[in-house]
Amino acid sequence: MAELLEIAKLGNPILRQIAQPVSNITDATLQALIDSSIETATAANGVGIAAPQVSQSYRLFIVASRPNPRYPDAPLMEATAMINPKIVARSDEIVKGWEGCLSVPGVRGLVPRYRAIAVEYSDRYGNLQHQELTDFVARIFQHELDHLNGILFVDRVESDRDLVTEEEYQRLISS
Ligand code: ZN
Repeated sequence: MAELLEIAKLGNPILRQIAQPVSNITDATLQALIDSSIETATAANGVGIAAPQVSQSYRLFIVASRPNPRYPDAPLMEATAMINPKIVARSDEIVKGWEGCLSVPGVRGLVPRYRAIAVEYSDRYGNLQHQELTDFVARIFQHELDHLNGILFVDRVESDRDLVTEEEYQRLISS
């Protein structure tokens, strides 16, 4: 078991920094950071986590979509480390969907995102990967990429009225 890491919360300046590119992907310290980030996201019922959220300002995030109490309808996928990630193409279509964030506990927001994106990243073995992502997984990627640029989902809502508490959100999705 990797150790659980402390999650930086809204107001912590590290969440507003531009993260640095990763150069030594296969280093043991980076591999340990990947393992601990996966454990931390899983333990917190997250579907993704970015390195700045665990106070490491590097261009690295984990996408780990799976159904859990915070996201009952999430598709199941293996937790994947995405390093130096980029969006290389995007759909014209933008869709709004509910997001939360481990760094902004207790709040959900209705956030517009591209419905489909083509992405590029290095995997944890240092191999360049190209993928097309759609819907919920595309949304996670865009949310996590924002973290690497100091942007939080609350910055992306179109109106303050698109912010709700976790409690009201749970009521909304169960109605
Ligand atoms: Zn987040």
